[in-house]
Amino acid sequence: MNIILLGPPGAGKGTQAKFLEEEHKIVQLSTGDMLRTAVNLGDQIGKQAKKVMDSGNLMPDEIMIKIISQRIVKSDCLNGFILDGFPRTTAQAEALDIMLGEKDLSIDYVIEISVDDKILVDRINARVLEMNESERRTDDTAETLVKRLGVYHKATAPILPHYKEKGILQQIDGMKSIEEVRQQINEVISGA
Ligand code: AMP
Repeated sequence: MNIILLGPPGAGKGTQAKFLEEEHKIVQLSTGDMLRTAVNLGDQIGKQAKKVMDSGNLMPDEIMIKIISQRIVKSDCLNGFILDGFPRTTAQAEALDIMLGEKDLSIDYVIEISVDDKILVDRINARVLEMNESERRTDDTAETLVKRLGVYHKATAPILPHYKEKGILQQIDGMKSIEEVRQQINEVISGA
């Protein structure tokens, strides 16, 4: 089973991907985590990613497409994967269709976790107050979030119709509790 989790930054994609990973024995592929690993390694992509992520912008499509196409062929993806943070642009969605077709793979569910912008801004402000400096992601500020939300609406939300037309898009209410969102996702997957 292969799943794409979509939704604005802070919607809880990472949290829900972890649940799916545990419950269905499929692997979470978080492009944000991959980039943060590269930042920590300090390699060339990492240096570029640090600047891009801190500014709230997106990494170039070619780099992200290459990272994902090399990742989904690894043996731990055989049982299925959850794409968390990819695709984020129309070009990435189109490239994903092509690479999946070439590998004889397909996406079973595209799940959009929808949350109002205002709630996301309130959530991040609460999180910033709770966390100390060392726990916080460097792109975890209200200012960067507003920028990232703008990027989401402009670059990522336009890919939703692509999946709607294919009949695999499921929208769920991300403003409920973590447990309720988890249940909604499980209902989608079990076909309830
Ligand atoms: P995330 O952890 O998914 O919120 O991603 C953190 C940041 O990594 C994003 O704000 C982007 O700067 C970058 N990033 C992650 N995934 C992608 C992607 N598929 N395309 C472009 N940039 C990405």
